Amino acid sequence: MAAKTFWNPEIECMPRVEIQQLQLERLQATMNRAYHNVAFYRRRFEELDITPEDIQTIADLRRLPLTEKEDLHRGYPYGMFAVPLREVVRIHMSSGTTGHPSVVGLTANDLRHQTDLVARNLTAAGITKEDVVQVFFGYGLFTAGFGYHYGTEAIGSSVIPVSHGDTQRQVEVMRDFRTTVIIGTPYYALRIAQTAEDMGIDSHELSLRIGLFGGEPWDESVRQEIEDRLSIKAFDVYGLAELGGPGVSFECEQRDGLHIAEDQFLVEVIDPDSGQVLEPGQSGELVFTTVNKEAFPLLRYRSGDLSSLNTEPCPCGRTHARMSRVSQYTDGRIVVRGINIFPGQVEGVLTEIDGLGKEYQLILARRWSGWKCMLNSLPIPPPIRCAG
Ligand code: ZN
Repeated sequence: MAAKTFWNPEIECMPRVEIQQLQLERLQATMNRAYHNVAFYRRRFEELDITPEDIQTIADLRRLPLTEKEDLHRGYPYGMFAVPLREVVRIHMSSGTTGHPSVVGLTANDLRHQTDLVARNLTAAGITKEDVVQVFFGYGLFTAGFGYHYGTEAIGSSVIPVSHGDTQRQVEVMRDFRTTVIIGTPYYALRIAQTAEDMGIDSHELSLRIGLFGGEPWDESVRQEIEDRLSIKAFDVYGLAELGGPGVSFECEQRDGLHIAEDQFLVEVIDPDSGQVLEPGQSGELVFTTVNKEAFPLLRYRSGDLSSLNTEPCPCGRTHARMSRVSQYTDGRIVVRGINIFPGQVEGVLTEIDGLGKEYQLILARRWSGWKCMLNSLPIPPPIRCAG
């Protein structure tokens, strides 16, 4: 029997004009929810002397100011929630910049939608109920582990929640449980490949066939290396904790951009300096508006991720716009194994150490055994090594 191509064909292949109509209807409900329940957004509307009824078209959305990461931090922990805590069934966290991280809540409906997005993602990659799926994203406060876990269960695959760490055990599980799909961060997949080789295991002895990777930037050369060393087909995936987790966008079998779930998210690309909205094809910062979230609605949220949009039809049949792979950030962040590191955090630690100057250089280098971080505070040689 041929593998199922779409998880939710009615939505994934909906004509674009209907997607936009759906977005507008959902946007108005979301704005009302935010206006009436989140003090931050209510103030925003009042400052502009408008109400949600004044936003009549998707273009009108541009009248609203952008929501910054700092705005979410200021709402820590529950200030940005639009529902009472008794309606929240799951709480997650995003990795923060400095100070408090963002706390994200999901209602039962939010979780259902989230699981549906991941199920679409898995199905688009050709994963079926016949597969044995090993998830090595972390299962902690961050969203990716649980997000892929429940999406995998929804499509009926067997999920192995190995979570992060103990690379040798990952390989043993992969071999003994006959894992066919792996899901996690791309550079950890390479570390697994190296460990398997060190253990004398040829990737062809394993049952692997597909890998989904995200959480940190990786390019085509890394894709090629993962595919060669693990004998799999590798797909790029994209999600944000602030948007509920994984499944925000994903590659289809064409692997020519990541389809954004436009029934759930309204996406704009802006010039990160001027805030001006850019046309499809132009590169800038991704800005997301959630149009179907109950607990944690976001209006024009700046992701800090640089990408561009492609609204041309895709040969796969999906009508949702595609975004180019994210390889750069606007906020100076460094991502290591899916965890955000901001140089400002390092600076904060350095300034508290007596005898060190304010100038420093942060060098991040990748080795097969993991990451090595060398730090030197200029002008005092030699470099001080810190564990990575
Ligand atoms: Zn496609």
